[in-house]
Amino acid sequence: QMESFTYSISHDLRAPLRAIRGFAQALAEDYAPLLDDTGRDYLDRMCAGAERLDQLIQDVLQYSRLGRSTLTFQPIVIDLCLAQVLLHLDRDIRSSNAVFDIQHPLPTVLGHAPTLEQVVSNLLSNALKFVAPGTQPNIRVWGECQNDVARLWVQDNGIGISPVHHQRIFGVFERLQNSDTYPGTGIGLAIVAKGIARMGGKVGVESEPGKGSRFWIELPRPAEPTHKG
Ligand code: ADP
Repeated sequence: QMESFTYSISHDLRAPLRAIRGFAQALAEDYAPLLDDTGRDYLDRMCAGAERLDQLIQDVLQYSRLGRSTLTFQPIVIDLCLAQVLLHLDRDIRSSNAVFDIQHPLPTVLGHAPTLEQVVSNLLSNALKFVAPGTQPNIRVWGECQNDVARLWVQDNGIGISPVHHQRIFGVFERLQNSDTYPGTGIGLAIVAKGIARMGGKVGVESEPGKGSRFWIELPRPAEPTHKG
């Protein structure tokens, strides 16, 4: 009930917000010369606030959709999933000058491809984002297989996370930094945790402040084909 309430409320909030954004934009385009510097500053803040609220609503919608939708599982070659994610993050990768070390081949897992893509994307965009100012992101990705499960690791050279916060950060709206330095909504890792749980997997992190982070996700591997005869 809570999930469907969140979903419809987030959905309904987008329509009036669209009007606020649209009119603020029209005001900026058509009337900016009539405003003084303070007026223009207020307008800029209004537009930025509306933009942030829209991102927040989209993230909440995505989170609650993940709880409502039916997921169909199939074997996923993580190398291909990762290639897709890197393509989507291309702009952030270029602007941060990030260096990747990807240990191919990565495992094949059983899961819901769009959800896994979102999970990997959230982990990588955090690895790109949470670095100390002026640091070139250095991201290592590798896999490990053990019996019927596979683990994917994402390691960064970022600001790190104190062990006391390792559980908390997977909750909704849990953020350790202010949004001026590191923008975000605090839903990315909640989507990771929920997505992985819905695919029957596990997630975790190893990290210390100033020493980078290693996030891992674990998912079932597809059953080996059985040969007859
Ligand atoms: P957001 O990225 O929108 O802040 P997330 O849910 O993805 O939200 O992450 C929650 C918090 O966990 C972040 O605000 C940050 O404090 C911490 N965090 C997540 N990933 C990393 C990382 N790779 N390095 C350091 N801190 C991280």
